Amino acid sequence: MDYTNAPGRNHLFVPGPVNIPEQVLRAMNRNNEDYRSPAIPAMTKNLLEDVKKIFKTTSGTPFLIPTTGTGAWESALTNTLSPGDRIISFLIGQFSLLWIDQQQRLNFDVDVVESEWGRGANLDILASKLAADRNHSIKAICIVHNETATGVTNNLSAVRKLLDDYNHPALFLVDGVSSICALDFRMDEWGVDVALTGSQKALSLPTGLGIVCASPKAIEASKTAKSVRVFFDWKDYLKFYKMGTYWPYTPSIQLLYGLRAALDLLFEEGLDNVIARHSRLGKATRLAVEAWGLKNCTQREEWVSNTVTAVVVPPYIDSAEVVRRAWKRYNLSLGLGLNKVAGKVFRIGHLGHLNELQLLGCLSGVEMILKDIGYPVKLGSGVAAAAAYLQNNIPMIPSRI
Ligand code: PLP
Repeated sequence: MDYTNAPGRNHLFVPGPVNIPEQVLRAMNRNNEDYRSPAIPAMTKNLLEDVKKIFKTTSGTPFLIPTTGTGAWESALTNTLSPGDRIISFLIGQFSLLWIDQQQRLNFDVDVVESEWGRGANLDILASKLAADRNHSIKAICIVHNETATGVTNNLSAVRKLLDDYNHPALFLVDGVSSICALDFRMDEWGVDVALTGSQKALSLPTGLGIVCASPKAIEASKTAKSVRVFFDWKDYLKFYKMGTYWPYTPSIQLLYGLRAALDLLFEEGLDNVIARHSRLGKATRLAVEAWGLKNCTQREEWVSNTVTAVVVPPYIDSAEVVRRAWKRYNLSLGLGLNKVAGKVFRIGHLGHLNELQLLGCLSGVEMILKDIGYPVKLGSGVAAAAAYLQNNIPMIPSRI
């Protein structure tokens, strides 16, 4: 059985990996090159300058690492911390859980602040821990900006404010894997010390690049951090940056050309427009969920995510069946519920290279699936709610005005 054969396009609505633009696919369709020729270092230099824009930083140092989000986590942690260091980490869903597991396996002393899945990071507890920590034993705060498993976006400026209010020097490490290039993210303004993302999310590239950006304070910390690291050692990168050759090991030439094309597309649309587009996609999806009479896993408006919506199904429905049917009958790929919310939620990813009409296709598919499996939904109800909102809010396409 060749599972890839199905008429028309696959509607890819998992919250990563996401659709890759044609321009990026074409840019990557090329031969290998000698990365020691003058061409690749020149290209890398520009990429490093441009990639800072997606983090909204001028003072940060970016690293393009052949890895995934998980490797980017490891790069952030091992370069800035030493075994035994006390860190505060928020557990709010599957990806924060996995990061915490990595932190524990790297032998940090992890102070886990847990919230019910569907809620954001508990910043009251953070405030009390910072207040009590007069001798500054907390070395870092680790937070997932957008928890992809539950569709919860944390308020990073509030975390920065608490650190400032308590005049606390802890490093501020942020997983922006399902936020950067889609949600408002301001590394310098929010005083983030390490921010990271993965290429297969809102950048709309293939998986394979972990993009990590370090503040001057994080670079300083890396000079004394004692965690063992080899492949991820920023020192090696910095040495090659200084030499002007940029690469401590062989880069993926194709991914570099893809990144160039992806950044060009984002800049052409304008980052603010990209963020506004995601906000429309998120809002339209939430309106559809409401019209279906279903609940969003996200418990409060302040945490809703504009890149992924986790839809809670009634107890008599297995959400995995929604995902199975979507793929088998409608050529639609939705996200499964993970771990604690397995069977209870399915996820609609609405990030990356995606527009409003594509989203309406997905929403109409979800309606048919819900009806298929016995949920009393009125066909067209969610699509109508989303379309009514979108019709009033979609601007002209920036490049076509
Ligand atoms: N962090 C978040 C928020 C994620 O959503 C994911 C993956 O979906 C990861 C980290 C892990 O990234 P990767 O699968 O690229 O290692």
